[in-house]
Amino acid sequence: MSKVPELFGSMVFNESVMKERLPKDVFKALKKTMTEGTPLDETVANIVANAMKDWAISKGATHYTHWFQPMTGVTAEKHDSFITPGAEGAVIMEFSGKELIKGEPDASSFPSGGLRATFEARGYTAWDPTSYAFIKDNTLCIPTAFCSYTGQVLDKKTPLLRSMDAISDQACRVLKLFGKECKRVTTTVGPEQEYFLINKSDYAKRPDLILTGRTLFGAPAPKGQEMEDHYFGSIRPRVKAFMAELDEELWKLGVYSKTEHNEVAPCQHEMAPIFETTNIATDHNQLTMEVMKKVANKHGFVCLLHEKPFAGVNGSGKHNNWSLSTDKGENLLEPGNTPSSNAQFLLFLTAVIKATDEYQDLIRLSAASAGNDHRLGAHEAPPAIVSMYIGDELGAVVDALVSGEDYTDAKKTKMDIGVSVLPNIPKDTSDRNRTSPFAFTGNKFEFRMPGSAFNVACTNTILNTAVAEELRQFADELEQAVDFDAALTALIQREIRAHKRIIFNGNGYDDAWIKEAGKRGLHNLASTPDALPHYTDKKNLQLFTRHGIYTPIEVGSREEILLDEYGKTINIEAHTMLDMLRKLILPACVKYSKEVAEGVAIKKQIGVDAPAEAALVRTITEKTAALAQAERTLTEKAAGVPARSIARIRARYYRDEVLPAMEEARRIADELEGLVAKDAWPMPTYSDILFYI
Ligand code: ADP
Ligand code: MG
Repeated sequence: MSKVPELFGSMVFNESVMKERLPKDVFKALKKTMTEGTPLDETVANIVANAMKDWAISKGATHYTHWFQPMTGVTAEKHDSFITPGAEGAVIMEFSGKELIKGEPDASSFPSGGLRATFEARGYTAWDPTSYAFIKDNTLCIPTAFCSYTGQVLDKKTPLLRSMDAISDQACRVLKLFGKECKRVTTTVGPEQEYFLINKSDYAKRPDLILTGRTLFGAPAPKGQEMEDHYFGSIRPRVKAFMAELDEELWKLGVYSKTEHNEVAPCQHEMAPIFETTNIATDHNQLTMEVMKKVANKHGFVCLLHEKPFAGVNGSGKHNNWSLSTDKGENLLEPGNTPSSNAQFLLFLTAVIKATDEYQDLIRLSAASAGNDHRLGAHEAPPAIVSMYIGDELGAVVDALVSGEDYTDAKKTKMDIGVSVLPNIPKDTSDRNRTSPFAFTGNKFEFRMPGSAFNVACTNTILNTAVAEELRQFADELEQAVDFDAALTALIQREIRAHKRIIFNGNGYDDAWIKEAGKRGLHNLASTPDALPHYTDKKNLQLFTRHGIYTPIEVGSREEILLDEYGKTINIEAHTMLDMLRKLILPACVKYSKEVAEGVAIKKQIGVDAPAEAALVRTITEKTAALAQAERTLTEKAAGVPARSIARIRARYYRDEVLPAMEEARRIADELEGLVAKDAWPMPTYSDILFYI
């Protein structure tokens, strides 16, 4: 693997390629656009576009696309070739600055949550020059934001970029109070990606996996994850080959794929990249998911990114590691070595604590989806209650601040907590708390709620904006202070006292925590229909508008789109289930019991009693009748969705009426799977799928 440095970024139009291929002044202008957001003038854009095209063609590209992230959660692209008619029937390859900067995909079929009537369907994509263009499948991909012609946001990238500006502005104000001049503070993100790999041949025989990404039926295999032998276990050679190729493909695209290991459930794995600036990390995570699926296919696998593909074993999440750092490379969530750097650290920590408490609902709903509802609170992932883990040592510092007493560190040295002598804060050395949704892990927070299939843009937009708001309030207050040290101490103490209910260092899987959280007045938004309506709570609308992230109408459209997506997901699952019941499972049960019954009759003719078979026929017949009844109930429930109601009501209907009917059908079908002979069951079982060689 000596070629890794050459391979890395070989399909990316990155700074070294720009330097090599662009005239000096053009490179400078582009760099200014990338770092300061200054608009690119047309002549410069034309030169950049032409250089990009020549580079892309030299790498085998024939097409280009504006690569964007509509509200569907996946990425979208429409490919155009570079060809332009030339003289004498020939073609020339062209790509203009205009085509680089702006695209106009027909936007009418992307969800807009009522923002855009189809008659005014026009939307446009605009280049995000902070994210490098890259080549994928012989196509030059230009990362872009997506807006309607009236300027309304239709995608996930635009609000993310706005939230990054908001937190940068406020963090710079705060740093100024500590005597630091700083142009830009960026949030950094390292999203750890969990996934399942299963055999393509099994997948092909399961309509539920094909249509919904998860198994809607399936009795537990005799072995699950109880032996704890898969986590960090040795990797199957076929999977190893997949991971090697995945790394190679990701490296070509400039993704810092770093760590690969087996996860807890059989067939479950994880890839962790090295963290990057948030919008690049988001783009790269979207790419990672796409590349995972493609590479899996080449190795005879299917990569499942669903949050809960199999009942009874762990589902998959995406841990969003999040921090803040200055343009000088200082990580603002890293406890410092001196009292004053610790005061700064404590102020940023306090901002995160306050933000997490005040915007628990938003943080929770940023991880809400039909798929993730199966995971959160299922004793394998954090509960649906947002709380923070800060570890014992930092916990002691916070306790001391709250009680106003002296902080005594682990070595029992007495220290004052006045700002001028704030304690040294040791890096957390205690055991990692794996059950907390939002854990401080030494120099960053790990938000563990997002589901594996999520676009992390939404989560980070919310984290950035909420923390920006607290920093704004802190800066407003401290800029007025006469005695900065005294004002700082008072602020930190006051805010930690007010918001310490959000800190919980215990076991998040424990039922006692749910009670305790209730006593503390924390939200417990157990399902997506409970969580999403908080998007448009007054305080949340105020937050988004104050920082210029969304207008109230845009927030409303997001709530609508996501609630609608929740209902549609369950609707597809219900209909897939019905189809499988009618065409596969019920016929298999009828056929098998008939065969056994014929055996009983034949034996009877020669005077042999067959009580075991007869009993089996009876049981299967009874359960088949119950399953047929469950199928009828589910049919009725699926047909009974209140048609003209608002999205909130429909979503609740799916949760309260359709999901229970699906669960009942599955329960009976899974019992029947245990009774019907293996060769008579119409699809691969959990044992087949999860324990391949
Ligand atoms: P683990 O949590 O498995 O012990 P690490 O703590 O090293 O591993 O990192 C987990 C993830 O957190 C990685 O994707 C890593 O890049 C990311 N990470 C580390 N530091 C930061 C940071 N300052 N900001 C954002 N993400 C970070
Ligand atoms: Mg981790």
